[in-house]
Amino acid sequence: FMVDDCIFCKIIAGDIPSSKVYEDEEVIAFLDISQVTPGHTLVVPKKHARNLLEMDEMATAQLFARVSKVAKKVATATQAKGMNIISNMEEVSGQTVFHTHIHIIPRYSDQDELAISFTEHEPNFDQLAVLAEKIQNS
Ligand code: AMP
Ligand code: ZN
Repeated sequence: FMVDDCIFCKIIAGDIPSSKVYEDEEVIAFLDISQVTPGHTLVVPKKHARNLLEMDEMATAQLFARVSKVAKKVATATQAKGMNIISNMEEVSGQTVFHTHIHIIPRYSDQDELAISFTEHEPNFDQLAVLAEKIQNS
């Protein structure tokens, strides 16, 4: 893998600038260049991986420990009423940068420029049971 091909590896290397909000040995966090809401932050592991599905549990645990830390810092600084924490995996989900990152998106109102909607369905308990068992056994 070529670091030159990855915008977030370049930010980690200091080759391109970022608005850094947190850094330690494992992760860097910086403001998303396109602020969905004020304080929109990305938490990024320094070790390149395509997305969360490519990372082992320990690497993910270390990353999410920092997501907790950074989310609280963002909440305190912005005085947001709440937040969404999102990670996109693969094009189908909207991933555009293929280096793992967790979006921390402070929320100020339900009219923010972010809409996450879950279409509701009547529960089908037979289907749920089949699917749950399939996932358990995977
Ligand atoms: P995703 O759709 O989850 O892959 O989101 C990638 C995010 O990275 C987008 O929200 C972009 O605005 C953000 N982004 C891309 N380039 C940069 C950059 N150089 N600095 C900060 N954020 C960036
Ligand atoms: Zn990278």
